[in-house]
Amino acid sequence: MRKCTLLILLMLALLVGGCAPSTYPATPTKTPGAEPVEQPSIGTPDIELTQSEPTTVVPSTPVVLPETETVETEVAITPTIGPPTNTSPPPTPDPSLPADHYQLWRPIPNGWADYADRTYAYGTTSGGQYRPHTGMDFINDRGTPVSAVGNATVHYAGTDESVVYGPQTNFYGNLIVLQMTDFTHNGQPVYALYGHLGEIGVQIGQTVAARDVIGVVGASGIAMGPHLHFEVRVGDPMVYFTATRNPDLWIKPYNGYGTLAGKVINSSGAYLREVALTVHGVDMTRYTWSYAGDENISDEQWKENFTLGDLPEGWYTVTTRSSGRGYSAEVYIENGRTTWLEIVLD
Ligand SMILES: [Zn+2]
Repeated sequence: MRKCTLLILLMLALLVGGCAPSTYPATPTKTPGAEPVEQPSIGTPDIELTQSEPTTVVPSTPVVLPETETVETEVAITPTIGPPTNTSPPPTPDPSLPADHYQLWRPIPNGWADYADRTYAYGTTSGGQYRPHTGMDFINDRGTPVSAVGNATVHYAGTDESVVYGPQTNFYGNLIVLQMTDFTHNGQPVYALYGHLGEIGVQIGQTVAARDVIGVVGASGIAMGPHLHFEVRVGDPMVYFTATRNPDLWIKPYNGYGTLAGKVINSSGAYLREVALTVHGVDMTRYTWSYAGDENISDEQWKENFTLGDLPEGWYTVTTRSSGRGYSAEVYIENGRTTWLEIVLD
């Protein structure tokens, strides 16, 4: 009996393992050693937006059906992969979830690529190639303006040749660190860090208003191409890694869009690292991964270990696999809110 079970499990693992690559995004070719960036030519962001306020892609008006709960199923071999089948009205938001704190504007102004590259998501290593990402990348040409994400004072503006904001000096190159003046988080100051800038347009101590242009995109420091590396830090602005928080939980979603966040854990509650998640919408598929790093880079309230922002409101199928078991759930992404999904895998 046991041998038979093992044999079946082995066959399932082979079957599932053999299928896996077709559902995961192709691993982009990158050169190790640098704070990596997806060049637009190789790693086109998997979000199909060309403008800052993209056309909202919302499924056709849902048919009004009796209220149904979010469907969560675990299936043995092949999870439901593909567009969501659910056309129910949005479920009632869970009032026990933490309140959102979308208090930041985008760091790239309207008219440029103000959406995040999703191939090297916050907290992930791009398939083990790099250190866990402490921020979010906005891929734009040199000279693209970067703007203040809120009313702030300039905490730092200059190079990191002699000050350490990253794992070493000369990591972020020309950087700006803003301290938000309108709010704190759990009594702690909130900072926004802009790395790899081409030019800096502000000075330490200066006051800036939300959406003021403060510099331009470059590739200074350790960057393989021009992009803005953007971080949110809570508490100590000099602390690399553990002071960072996921910008997806801070940047206001586009109108008509929301954020998926959650955690991937085992049945004992332990966080599972770098689990690939596929998120199928009605007419697009996107990918994200659970964090590779410690949970101390998670939001204090949410305790998430994955996010996927900039999803048009509507139903999605989220699938993943671990240890040969498939997982599939349908979730509704709400406009302007975080939708929470807890994925338990054995
Ligand atoms: Zn980055």
